[in-house]
Amino acid sequence: MVKTHNLGFPRIGAARELKFALEAYWKGQSTLSELEEVGADLRQQNWRTQSRLDWVPVGDFSFYDQVLDMSFLLGNLPRRVRDFSGESRDLYFRVARGRSAPSADRHDGCSLGIAAGEMTKWFDTNYHYIVPEFDTDTVFSLHAAELLAQVREVRSRVFDAKPVLIGPLTYLALGKSKDATDKLSLLPRLLPVYAELLRTLAAEGVQWVQIDEPILAMDLDPEWKATFAAAYESLRGTGVKMMLTTYFGPLQDNLAAAAALPVDGVHLDAVNAPSEVRDLIRQAPEDRVISLGVVNGRNIWKADLNATLDWLEPIAEQLGNRLWIAPSCSLLHVPVDLALESKLDSEVQSWLAFATQKLEELQILQTALNRGRSSVQAALDANAAAVQSRRGSPRVNSPAVRAAVAKIDAQLGKRSSAYAERAKVQAGVVPLPLFPTTTIGSFPQTPEIRRVRRQFKSGAITETAYRDVMQAEIAHCIAEQESLGLDVLVHGEPERNDMVEYFGEQLDGYAFSELGWVQSYGSRCVKPPVLFGDISRPQPMTVAWTTYAQSLTDQPVKGMLTGPVTILNWSFVRDDQPRWVSCQQLALAIRSEVQDLEKAGVRIIQIDEAALREGLPLRRSQWKVYLDWAIESFRIAANGVADATQIHTHMCYSEFNDIIESIAEMDADVITIETSRSDMELLEAFRRFDYPNAIGPGVYDIHSPNIPTQEQIIGLMQKAAERIPYQRLWVNPDCGLKTRRWEEVVPALEQMVTAAKELRAAA
Ligand code: GLN
Ligand code: ZN
Repeated sequence: MVKTHNLGFPRIGAARELKFALEAYWKGQSTLSELEEVGADLRQQNWRTQSRLDWVPVGDFSFYDQVLDMSFLLGNLPRRVRDFSGESRDLYFRVARGRSAPSADRHDGCSLGIAAGEMTKWFDTNYHYIVPEFDTDTVFSLHAAELLAQVREVRSRVFDAKPVLIGPLTYLALGKSKDATDKLSLLPRLLPVYAELLRTLAAEGVQWVQIDEPILAMDLDPEWKATFAAAYESLRGTGVKMMLTTYFGPLQDNLAAAAALPVDGVHLDAVNAPSEVRDLIRQAPEDRVISLGVVNGRNIWKADLNATLDWLEPIAEQLGNRLWIAPSCSLLHVPVDLALESKLDSEVQSWLAFATQKLEELQILQTALNRGRSSVQAALDANAAAVQSRRGSPRVNSPAVRAAVAKIDAQLGKRSSAYAERAKVQAGVVPLPLFPTTTIGSFPQTPEIRRVRRQFKSGAITETAYRDVMQAEIAHCIAEQESLGLDVLVHGEPERNDMVEYFGEQLDGYAFSELGWVQSYGSRCVKPPVLFGDISRPQPMTVAWTTYAQSLTDQPVKGMLTGPVTILNWSFVRDDQPRWVSCQQLALAIRSEVQDLEKAGVRIIQIDEAALREGLPLRRSQWKVYLDWAIESFRIAANGVADATQIHTHMCYSEFNDIIESIAEMDADVITIETSRSDMELLEAFRRFDYPNAIGPGVYDIHSPNIPTQEQIIGLMQKAAERIPYQRLWVNPDCGLKTRRWEEVVPALEQMVTAAKELRAAA
């Protein structure tokens, strides 16, 4: 009999219950026991939703982050919190969130500022984890009480619990050595704690433990790869069976090593590595359980169940009891329950599956495999009808869009002249001083702005009333920028709740859920729009706001758009065509917007590509392919303008070294980047590459309420000028200002503008 299991379930709650409980607790509006109760309720609900599985995951719930949970489980806390005395849950939040302002958090006794743990992206997802910290003195010790309590909790409800752990090698690989200690050298200290944990779970009556080693889907250093076998050898004989899980991609050169590991089962992401299924089965010893991830845990489309059964049935026949099926990875990356959507377009809704529905799909597959397709014929037929309807829908396939994409050629993404030439033309049209000042686009999004946007969305106010308020906001924003003396102004983006959703809502081919939230980090969630069909732009999306802003001032106003790659990377994207095709369609839509802005007299246009780097594949060998199409899409979007039009782009992340060539290929006239916290070190990549165009290195960190001083800004710009000729430098903040308050923004920009004037005078 084929068995089913799940690698992890979203813990945030279908209506983001955990988010609200956490935030209330952090603000001191609820007690620790109220928070714990919400956690217990969510776990119960999740187990109930998963009750038909043969193995229900436990330990996948987390109050903040599963990697941080693992650090606590292994007794590996950052040095700076080791002498904390207080509630252990507060210690946990302290590591997660840090503490800046004294007594901002009512739930701890200490008022010293403590840095938050560093956060970074979980593989190639949009989930962020707290980076474990290591140094030469790092020791590990087992703290399993919470996990054990949850195991008891779930078993008391008669489900078979399968604890979920991050494997020792992935745990080390995800962490950061604070003092150049070789992380691998810590493995001998770490493994005994894992062994003790497994024995403890065995004593609790646990049969199977899931051990995640997703680094097996990445390029591994030979020493790391070589360590796997011995490491897992040392974890044998504890009394529990180990299901080693890999996900997010094919195993490639790690497949043989994974197949041979001395574990009891191996999970392969069969959605991303269908061609490795047979190899894994062939190479694994005869007693190995093979778990196949057959339902995509990373997107929200219904699986094609009949097609899945076509390839799965012979495998089930061959493996018998040795086959388990599961989603490809933890369902953490998809929303909880599609059934709660009431406003989603019903046709689109019929094509989708969220976490709950994905488990139903798994159930149907299991029944079909164990009892024959006819025992679930109705479900299979309904699935086939949905798949068919999506495939044939005219809303998915637009011949006009297809024709436009087919006409794309290399010429389309090219500007007529090289940067140096364009810069001269642009200086003639829009004369700017040395060290021109600008901002990244958004200005404070006040509660008033948010309220009016919500009222308009819900139909409580008319479009005219809405427009009046937004225009008043824009006028205020322009007036502030004029009195600050900024050189290139922006309209401030009051009409945008989100830089992707705003565009998605105006493009054909996009749908929006009400509750399609996915955890990004801690209590933060995102609701990615659903890119389901061929993309087109029925009408201009930003021209009216930008030209209104321009009508109020003689200073140049910069048009503000989100780039195609960022829109793609922050959406749930259709899986029936390659991502690059959808990206090209987005690029053509943005290109039309750029050209409409140009026609309307907008001389400077910024196209944000904040998520370009996020889309990098896990394997280095695939970077080039991605970068090639991503950069080409940006170029298509940006470069259909005359020499006189100045194109800006903005990116707010910190690693340019390994992609600098592609950044240069984008050929934006000006790129603004986040650099202030790196002390301008990040410009090294641009210096070494002899980056030819203009750069606006951020001069202050907008994530902090601190007001930078003019001296600090001048100091940073001087460091920048050591790396980039000052004639090509702009002066701007690190990122958009929407999360700040006007009381912070005005003095900060005052300092920035004064600093720029000083720099000019001294140049
Ligand atoms: N233009 C956007 C803003 O200012 C850019 C945001 C971003 O880079 N994440 O808000
Ligand atoms: Zn940014």
